[in-house]
Amino acid sequence: MSSKDYIKLNGCLGFLLFALMCSGILRCGPAPRNDHKKVPYGGVDTRKFKTISPPFIDVVNKFTTEFDVSSAHLGVGYEFFYKNIVGLCFSYSNGLREIRINPHYEEIITDPARFEQLMYHELGHCLLNLEHNDDHEDEKPESIMRSWLFSTDEISEYYIPHRDEYINELNFATPRSP
Ligand SMILES: [Zn+2]
Repeated sequence: MSSKDYIKLNGCLGFLLFALMCSGILRCGPAPRNDHKKVPYGGVDTRKFKTISPPFIDVVNKFTTEFDVSSAHLGVGYEFFYKNIVGLCFSYSNGLREIRINPHYEEIITDPARFEQLMYHELGHCLLNLEHNDDHEDEKPESIMRSWLFSTDEISEYYIPHRDEYINELNFATPRSP
């Protein structure tokens, strides 16, 4: 990760936000290929998400069981933010991780498979420290760490029938640089 991705926060927060990973970007429209967005000063409040809100508990538990990782330092909640951004993972230098999901995208949140792909992508950043992978094999996305979300067609054509492969792929995915 280059230095431009580092953001020094205001002193009141007392520590640095060292990485803002990002997330699910909708494919419609000219989707940016790099969604490592910076947050404006004052845009990060680590006091907000010390817990995992009820809509997210089941999918987080499923992920931590599947990958044998802890969610002890993870908070997850809803927050309206950037246009076209569905989810974000924030990583802080004190070890805290936060996932924020944009409630604007109700059609994704209420579709179990799309919601899982979105959450597993963010959890891939936040708990497995993974980078993006935008590679495709023909039309098939290689990883759920692709920088934009699977479309409904991709969910039914690739994610659901090949879920085991996608889960396994995360075990071999590229970690984010230190
Ligand atoms: Zn991402």
